[in-house]
Amino acid sequence: MLLEADLHTHTVASGHAYSTLKEMAEAAEKRGLKMIAVTDHGPLMPGGPHEYHFGNMVVLPRKIGNVEILRGVEANILDTDGTLDLPAGLLEQLDIVLAGFHSGTGFDGRSQEDYTRAVLAAIANPRVHIIVHPGNPEFPINIERLVQAAAAGHKALEINNNSFHVSRPGSLPRCQLLAKLASQYKVWVALNSDAHVFTAVGNYARAWQVARSAGIIEEQILNLTANRVKEYLGWHRRSLQYSQEEKALSGRTSQPHANVV
Ligand SMILES: [Zn+2]
Ligand SMILES: [Zn+2]
Repeated sequence: MLLEADLHTHTVASGHAYSTLKEMAEAAEKRGLKMIAVTDHGPLMPGGPHEYHFGNMVVLPRKIGNVEILRGVEANILDTDGTLDLPAGLLEQLDIVLAGFHSGTGFDGRSQEDYTRAVLAAIANPRVHIIVHPGNPEFPINIERLVQAAAAGHKALEINNNSFHVSRPGSLPRCQLLAKLASQYKVWVALNSDAHVFTAVGNYARAWQVARSAGIIEEQILNLTANRVKEYLGWHRRSLQYSQEEKALSGRTSQPHANVV
């Protein structure tokens, strides 16, 4: 099964990844992918890039070879309010925003209730598109509440291929539960490599197995086609703009005398 887009990849900018953007794009093309999202870690990851890195992504080409490049971030969720480590204005400049928990970013060793509140707040943020590696037992969220929130907000949850190889040991049973509930609630699922080196781009074999054995169907796999990804991101962008316009309008009507002296 070939998915056209890998929506979670890292470059040397992350500090603990080993390939350049060009190497990642070339490897993606060799594997037959049409799109990758470059999602380096947010600034609070030890060794991660400064926020200028994200502000300057406008210089990146839209395509390298035949591979479309989405400008993104893997932002860190920092507290129970779902605060992320990039300001809203910068998040809005990017094509795609992933959010998730990472150790060493100041939010370690909390309760299930704290992590659940935090992830629910993050998924409610209209600038966030995908919650990454939610099956990580180090940050034990209530998975059913997250799946319900994803269904309500039309957001995607990730099944991260790396969770079954080198990172986040103990993720498999929680990912299987997440996949089962995602199938039941018909939420969007993204199967991503989380590649930290070019040889791993487009590698989602284990994530695919977990998804299929839980009954997830192709219609709910966000990154099955590049066009589907673009439609999804476009829909969320329009809904963010709409909510901002609504807010501006209601601000005006609720303070009709603000400018009257
Ligand atoms: Zn991560
Ligand atoms: Zn990652």
